[in-house]
Amino acid sequence: MPSLYFKYGVMGSSKSAQALICKFNYEQKGYKVLLVKPSIDTRDYDNGKAVVKSRIGIMSECLTIKYNQSMMELYKEASKTQKYDVLIIDEAQFCSEKQIDECKEISLEIPVLCYGLKTNFKSYLFEGSKRLIEIADSITEIESICSCGAKATINAKLVNGKIVRDGKEIDIGGDEKYIVMCYNCWKKMQKENNKY
Ligand SMILES: [Zn+2]
Repeated sequence: MPSLYFKYGVMGSSKSAQALICKFNYEQKGYKVLLVKPSIDTRDYDNGKAVVKSRIGIMSECLTIKYNQSMMELYKEASKTQKYDVLIIDEAQFCSEKQIDECKEISLEIPVLCYGLKTNFKSYLFEGSKRLIEIADSITEIESICSCGAKATINAKLVNGKIVRDGKEIDIGGDEKYIVMCYNCWKKMQKENNKY
């Protein structure tokens, strides 16, 4: 029985690399993989083509899906020219609740593997991640380390070196920086910030 998988991690935890390695592994065995990511911005385009790209230097062409688009229709449309054995979604946190529900439907036919962040910089679940945690058959964490050595669980957003906890969930092209840290260090740094 195919399943819906959610593999989550903080930023920089090699989620995209893992998604691409997973795709490679399936393809090595002769399976056809449909690779999809939500279209949020234009950062991940290569010569005009949408790609899933990892910081470690590997990438693969993919289809993009808009927030209001149907995942089921995209899957059915793509399947007209090519039968797919697996659906892999990168940046799945940006999917809508409805799209994840559709992934669940698709997972009754073929395995659906979703890679993404669990929480935003405010430490709350993203819409897609929330739905995945609710309905995925398998949930696994791709672990990362805070600079103190503890497990990193927070995607901290820094503006001018200070942690911010408000603003839009998706903020593209600003001066902000993200670092991953453990909850303790995140709290400590906010306290430090407030001293000045
Ligand atoms: Zn720490």
